[in-house]
Amino acid sequence: MDTKTLLEWSERYHVPTYSRAPICLVRGEGVRVWDSDGREYLDFTAGIGVVALGHCHPRVTGAIREAAGTLIHVSNLFHTAPQTHLARFLCENSFGDRVFFCNSGAEANEAAFKLARRYCREHFASDRYEIIAMRNSFHGRTLATVTATGQEKYRQGFEPLMPGFKHVPFNDLRAVERALDNRTAAVLLEPVQGEGGVNVPDDGYLPGLRKLCDEAGALLILDEVQTGLGRTGTLWGYQHWGVEPDIMTLAKGLANGVPIGAMVARDPVARGLTAGTHASTFGGTPFVASVALATLTTLLEEKLPERAARVGRHLMNGLAALKAKHSDIREVRGKGLLIGIELSRPAAALVTACREAGLLVLTAGDMVLRLEPPLIVDEATCDHALAILDGALAKA
Ligand SMILES: *Cc1c(COP(=O)(O)O)cnc(C)c1O
Repeated sequence: MDTKTLLEWSERYHVPTYSRAPICLVRGEGVRVWDSDGREYLDFTAGIGVVALGHCHPRVTGAIREAAGTLIHVSNLFHTAPQTHLARFLCENSFGDRVFFCNSGAEANEAAFKLARRYCREHFASDRYEIIAMRNSFHGRTLATVTATGQEKYRQGFEPLMPGFKHVPFNDLRAVERALDNRTAAVLLEPVQGEGGVNVPDDGYLPGLRKLCDEAGALLILDEVQTGLGRTGTLWGYQHWGVEPDIMTLAKGLANGVPIGAMVARDPVARGLTAGTHASTFGGTPFVASVALATLTTLLEEKLPERAARVGRHLMNGLAALKAKHSDIREVRGKGLLIGIELSRPAAALVTACREAGLLVLTAGDMVLRLEPPLIVDEATCDHALAILDGALAKA
């Protein structure tokens, strides 16, 4: 079928929730993807931070082939080895003691909210259910997670929202201190805000939040759906600041593109969800757990978090040079390979100019261009992307 007809059908047969670029992608390998006309692109979106090991990594593809021929799905009424090995792997490599598996970031956050409410109801005499979340945050698209998300545009028209959430400015300890009271079950945040503009907090912020939560008896929930799994240059975002949460949520990079979500929690908090209180039909099937295990093993063996830190620094240096040259760039910020370029004008035109020159990039809000390449990217490929961006900035 010709590309033009395919794009017409795509516009016609989908619920129109996405505004898609006018290309049809057909194949990927490493940091590159190809469209239906044979054009090659550098993929600095990694499927919005998903394909950490790059497209069709041989070890991931091998694990998919093997798992597909062994056992794809059984319910969580039975034990399976891949799911148990994955839970153990996550606990042994993080602060966590126990894991709940689901299928997406939003679902992992839903599990975290339910756990926080239930644990606090059982643990405290007073009725604690409120969650303090941050402005400009992003936590997903279900009703509870759009309520938690501190951006008006994601909720408009979907009211009534969930009760029990309030918002304070990000990176403002005093605001959290004022908002905490004996109704607070948890404080929820992304260690580095992704969707909301790639916002990196001051160094004292996470340690300060940990202290405030401890004093108030509130839980600290970190949404590491985007920052987790090496993206920011450490395996977990929280490691930059030497603090540990009570609950962490994961999804995007966990199985390199096969859908999975996970909530990791420490004991005794994790035991707040007792038998029958929460479940997922597809959560942690032997198939996806095998793929996630292959992804995580490769991530650690190939030291990809360290690589993300190193290559991220190289990319940031290159972007600093572009900033000196192009007055349209206001600020370059980020950690590891989660990088935002704040512009003095809407980023959409630059995204188009980059794509037309063979580079796929993201936005994070209207004015911020977001770079999030696979963690396997090397310095030379970054230089290639920087050259394309340089040309697009001059043109757009
Ligand atoms: C992408 C994202 C989510 C939502 O994940 P889905 O898998 O789309 O539900 C939640 N939180 C953060 C920080 C994200 O970046």
